[in-house]
Amino acid sequence: DLPPLLVSACLMGEPCRYDGKDYPCPAVRKLANTRTLIPICPEVMAGLPTPRACAELQPSGRVVDADDIDRTAAFEAGAAEAVRIAREHGCTQAILKSKSPSCGKGLIYDGTFSGTLVPGMGKAAQALIDAGIEVLSENDCADLQS
Ligand code: SF4
Repeated sequence: DLPPLLVSACLMGEPCRYDGKDYPCPAVRKLANTRTLIPICPEVMAGLPTPRACAELQPSGRVVDADDIDRTAAFEAGAAEAVRIAREHGCTQAILKSKSPSCGKGLIYDGTFSGTLVPGMGKAAQALIDAGIEVLSENDCADLQS
């Protein structure tokens, strides 16, 4: 049997996004037919409220929200918690929501709140990769073994 798969909770239909909405992804939800899914939201796990001010990761590595409050510590705590849960369940792969300052892989907003995407990794995506977990986005579901 394949190990459980870590997934961003918003992709499963959890309304945990900063704006209080979800981002349901049918391809991700379908994976539940063949894999055990472990939904996580690093930002909620860090104790941030929903809804919350939009935050972006700056090139310096700091996470700052639209109210100019530094949220780096919370985002790093959420990333560490994501790694802890992945290890607890023996996950070797994660499907994470693209472009998020926590979950984004490969492309994230640049920290200026201008809608500009730049190469980069969200805090949780990077921490999971550093822990040896393969990170994919909701656009990569077809690449997954099931
Ligand atoms: Fe979704 Fe990740 Fe943002 Fe939580 S932190 S709302 S799981 S993208």
